Amino acid sequence: MAVEAKDVVVIGGGFAGLAAGVALAEKGFRVAVLESKPGLGGRACSFTEPTTGDFVDNGQHVLMGCYHETLRFLDRIGARDRLIFHRRLEIEMLDGPGRRATLRTSRLPGPFHMTGALLRYRHLTIRERIRLMLGGMRLMRLRRRERERLARMSVAELMDLLGQGARARQCFWYPLALATLNDDPELASAALLAEVLKRGFFSRRSDSAFVYSRVGLSDLYCGAASSLIDRAGGVVAPRAIVDGLEFDDSGRIATVRLRDGGRLGAANFVAAVPPQNLLKLLPEAAVADPFFSRLQALQSSPIVCVHLWLDREVTDSAFVGFIGTTTQWLFNKRRIFERHGERAPGYLSFVISGARKLVESSNDELAAIVINDLRAMIPAAREARVLKAIVIREKHATIAPDPLSDRSRPAVVTPIDNLFLAGDWIQTGLPATIESAVTSGHAAASAIAARVGA
Ligand SMILES: Cc1cc2nc3c(=O)[nH]c(=O)nc-3n(C[C@H](O)[C@H](O)[C@H](O)COP(=O)(O)OP(=O)(O)OC[C@H]3O[C@@H](n4cnc5c(N)ncnc54)[C@H](O)[C@@H]3O)c2cc1C
Repeated sequence: MAVEAKDVVVIGGGFAGLAAGVALAEKGFRVAVLESKPGLGGRACSFTEPTTGDFVDNGQHVLMGCYHETLRFLDRIGARDRLIFHRRLEIEMLDGPGRRATLRTSRLPGPFHMTGALLRYRHLTIRERIRLMLGGMRLMRLRRRERERLARMSVAELMDLLGQGARARQCFWYPLALATLNDDPELASAALLAEVLKRGFFSRRSDSAFVYSRVGLSDLYCGAASSLIDRAGGVVAPRAIVDGLEFDDSGRIATVRLRDGGRLGAANFVAAVPPQNLLKLLPEAAVADPFFSRLQALQSSPIVCVHLWLDREVTDSAFVGFIGTTTQWLFNKRRIFERHGERAPGYLSFVISGARKLVESSNDELAAIVINDLRAMIPAAREARVLKAIVIREKHATIAPDPLSDRSRPAVVTPIDNLFLAGDWIQTGLPATIESAVTSGHAAASAIAARVGA
């Protein structure tokens, strides 16, 4: 088939590739999304576990009301009703067995809703809460006036600057930084934390609320995005491994070369794959270009998730933050998912972000850490029998959020005229999250539309 100006090949079927594909399809482009794996979804996917019949996400994913681009994408594909929206931010934090305090925003309009949450946070003394609130406000000023300074600083250094003591770090700042940036506060960039705080906590009240999927992650968006692209005359092809990009004499990409020997031409191309995969697709001469060579500086940071099935339910909460244990978050899948397997009454998922020191541990060791932490924090779990455990290690869960990596993140437009990039690792100003992935996918689609004059 002859290549037309409106033909676009998108490589990668995760959030970024599918968001780009959907946006392009809606703009009248004929899109082919090529995904190497048998299933779509990349790092945000799920499967049905055969013995329990439950959905298992590769790891619990939490969205927030401030994920405007993601919610727009889910609206476009008709998937918004598969989400659970909290009305306001409400996070239960456990500091020991039964020692709980809730970060709950007040009814005041944003950003003042946050002051109520911080001033009522019982894990801290009144003095610590006031200092925490003043620290948050000072950070918002630094974000406006001294972005460059924040961009060179780690979260831990920022805490020194804001005069935050050990308790405030342990009970608020570090859990927040680990959950949203996915790395050790000694390494993670202060500028990224400032952005999270601004968008998620110091904006509109609804922006702060947690949002998560009531179905397995793949069922949330993969099929619906694929159908929209199909209906618009495009195609979404799993098991299509792209092995390389082939250039014409003018230095533009002419075709992608597939592992099965096939080739596919298009007028424009979006690489929505992680940076290490992108570098493998490019010829050596292109990798020598500073735009691409600096991508080699991007490091990654792991996440460990442990899913446990128990012979009983041990908590009514949908999710709980653990303070002072290796395990950081518990998600109660019986409260979150709308469909359940029949075999086990209790089903909990645990997340350990920034898990550099744990990622090489064995499954048994990781499950034991989580079970110990669960029993330490929730006494009702001490009597419960563990029926099944699944450990999922994502070694390259996200790019590392350190200042150097953050500076090395590229834009969607590349020096190659018809190659555009998308992915959570693109410079969106956000940490590597779903919102960053979708934002970059939409930006790539807009850049192509602008180029083609659509
Ligand atoms: C355990 C875990 C928990 C997380 N929790 C959260 C959270 O709570 N909130 C949040 O916002 N974010 C979270 N994230 C981050 C989020 O998952 C990612 O930001 C997002 O999924 C990235 O999407 P992407 O499309 O950029 O990349 P990917 O999902 O990696 O998609 C890239 C796709 O390209 C495909 N591909 C690669 N090479 C080729 C090739 N040569 N040919 C064809 N296809 C190829 C891959 O198979 C993959 O499907 C979490 C991530 C993990 C791992």
